[in-house]
Amino acid sequence: MKLSASMKQALNEQVVKEFYSAYLYLSMARDMKNLGFVGYSKWLTVQYNEEREHAFKFIEYIEDREGVVDFGALDAVTEHFDCPCKAAEAALHHEEYISESIRTLFRLARKEEDLETESFLKWFIDEQVEEEANANEVVDGFNAGKDCKGIMFMFDHHLGERK
Ligand code: MG
Repeated sequence: MKLSASMKQALNEQVVKEFYSAYLYLSMARDMKNLGFVGYSKWLTVQYNEEREHAFKFIEYIEDREGVVDFGALDAVTEHFDCPCKAAEAALHHEEYISESIRTLFRLARKEEDLETESFLKWFIDEQVEEEANANEVVDGFNAGKDCKGIMFMFDHHLGERK
């Protein structure tokens, strides 16, 4: 069954948000590499790839429901991070923003009684719980090492083990 025009537009906007997430994490990854935090840089690069996968899930779903995806403009990433703590905080805030965006989509699907989209979005609701938990862990880890570079680099090494 075809998506409603409003649902299709809202899902399409999420495609752009997921690509922006990828873009943001790639920028953060390069900042962290330049600062010598190669573990967090790798972690963020894995995240960059995950965000592209999220965008593809939305693209394929829209197409399965007979929609054509419009590739809208991406915002520029305007901020550089000179400390992993600040990048980690910004990443957490970004994930909270994405969680709210997914909840808004879910509410729209409910309102329109679009059961298929509700079911599709369930995966993303669960995924965002994990994304926020992971982002929180990174904030806590770097904050614990705020006064000790050694601890910070040990935590960075731990993050580099992410597959
Ligand atoms: Mg995502």
